[in-house]
Formats: sequence, structure tokens, C-alpha cells
Amino acid sequence: MRMEDLTWPEFDRIKGKVKAVILPVGSVEAHGRHLPLGTDVFAPLELARRVEEKVKEKGSEVLVLPPVWYGHSFVLNTYPGTINVRPESLRMYVGDILSELAAEGFERIVLLNGHGGNIYPLIEAAEDVAELYPDLEVFLINWWMDFREEILSVCSSQGHAGEDETSVVLAIREDLVKMAEARGRRVKKKVRIIRKDIGRELFPDGVNDDPSGATAEKGEAILETVSIRIAEIILGGE
Ligand SMILES: [Zn+2]
Repeated sequence: MRMEDLTWPEFDRIKGKVKAVILPVGSVEAHGRHLPLGTDVFAPLELARRVEEKVKEKGSEVLVLPPVWYGHSFVLNTYPGTINVRPESLRMYVGDILSELAAEGFERIVLLNGHGGNIYPLIEAAEDVAELYPDLEVFLINWWMDFREEILSVCSSQGHAGEDETSVVLAIREDLVKMAEARGRRVKKKVRIIRKDIGRELFPDGVNDDPSGATAEKGEAILETVSIRIAEIILGGE
């Protein structure tokens, strides 16, 4: 069930019956020369769709909310097409959405995040709202980190626009992936360096992994495994 498809009376009827609401959060950001700018939203949206199916198979329901497209992306902002939102703007914006959801009566909200730069603002937004609603639980899921073990049982490596992410987009929107342009390598610094153009060094061409081994089959396996695990977590409440 997608919230944007419902009328308000339909929404009003189902809101007390769902196990959780899922808010996909991503970024509009450079992902190499081979992946679309919307990659970080495509992945959590597809995971949410699959989680909804898995939860339904168990006789429960979740409601998938319209996604938050724009995120905080300082490092990749050196590439055209990255739309960087300040962390405090994201914190306030997501905080307002969470407050509204809590006021509607939802007690379990899943922030299904697709982008690393969003993590701190999302934690802060959730903490702000949790202070006001003691019955509220916010699950912050950073899918590529929380399920790293599962992902690395499918892929030989992972990273920004790397083998795992490229595989996932191949499984979702193969038509948007330019595999002939898929190349990159892992670059690592000993300490975090903050400099306006550091992304050109850390993410050459907007990549930080070797994506050349990506396949749609691997992406399918990742999406299935991760969505099964998220459905279990939502149903188990852990
Ligand atoms: Zn990404």
C-alpha cells in the first residue's frame, strides 16, 4: 500500500491497522558515470515494495510513504547533478514528517535510508521526535550497512556506485545503467578529510568500489535477502 494512492477516508481506516509505516529516504547524487542520480531513492523504494509483500504474506500490513528524495551530500557535491541539502534542513524536514506521523497515531516508523550522508541528520530528527512521543519507535535502517554480511555473501565487495549498488540498480532499472562505463576502485584515507573538492579524490568519477562484476542476478539476491530481513525485523519488533 502506497500512501499517495489512498484517499483520506481510506488512510483513516487503515492507519490503526498497519504494523509500521516505511519512509524511504535517499539523495539525488552522482553515482559514477554508469548509475542514475536517483539511485539512493530507487533502492529503498524497491526494498519497501518488497518488504510490503513479505509482510503481507505473513498476514500483516505496512504502509509505504512517499519518499524523501533530497539528502545531505557534501562529498559528492563536487560532481554535477548532486543536490546537497544542509544537514539541519534535512533534520528539520524529516523531523516534521515524523512528528506528523506520530500525531496521526503511528507508533512504529521505519526510516529506510539509502544514503550515508543522511545518517546523522536522521538520528537527530528521530531523537527530537522521540522526546515528544514516548510510545514512538523509529527504526533507522541503513540497508547497505546493516545487512553488510548478507550483501557480502552475494558480492565480492561493496561501496558507493560499486558492485552491490550497481547490481541492485540493474535488478530494478536495467535500462538506466550504462555498464560499459562501470569502472572504479576503492580509495581510502586514514582519517576523514573535509575539503570542498575531496570527492574528486575519494570518489573518482563518483565511484568508490569496482562495479564491473555487478549483475542483475546479484541485485535480485540482495533485494530479496535484505527485504526478508527487514520484514522479519518489522514483524518481530526487534
Ligand atoms: Zn548510493
